[in-house]
Amino acid sequence: MMEKHANLQNGKTMTCAEFQDKLPELFESGNDLSGEQHLKTCETCAALVRDLEYIAQQAKLLLPLHDPSPVVWENIQSAIHNDGDQTARKSNDTPIK
Ligand SMILES: [Zn+2]
Repeated sequence: MMEKHANLQNGKTMTCAEFQDKLPELFESGNDLSGEQHLKTCETCAALVRDLEYIAQQAKLLLPLHDPSPVVWENIQSAIHNDGDQTARKSNDTPIK
């Protein structure tokens, strides 16, 4: 009988291995990962996706992009801003009399 197998496919819950296995495809297809059911129930994979999204954003900076969404650019810019702020402040820290 194939009952067990059917049960696996029917399940709303995916294992971490299954999810991570299709993660590259999800990224490349540009799907909205926040809609993934597994991420709502698995903090481990949710954290992994956040990391990957951050890396993907950094990578996009190095590539000629096709039409990035304003939200993506906002995130990148604020990330850059936060990063550069400390160093910029140091060199700009000349007291004005
Ligand atoms: Zn997981």
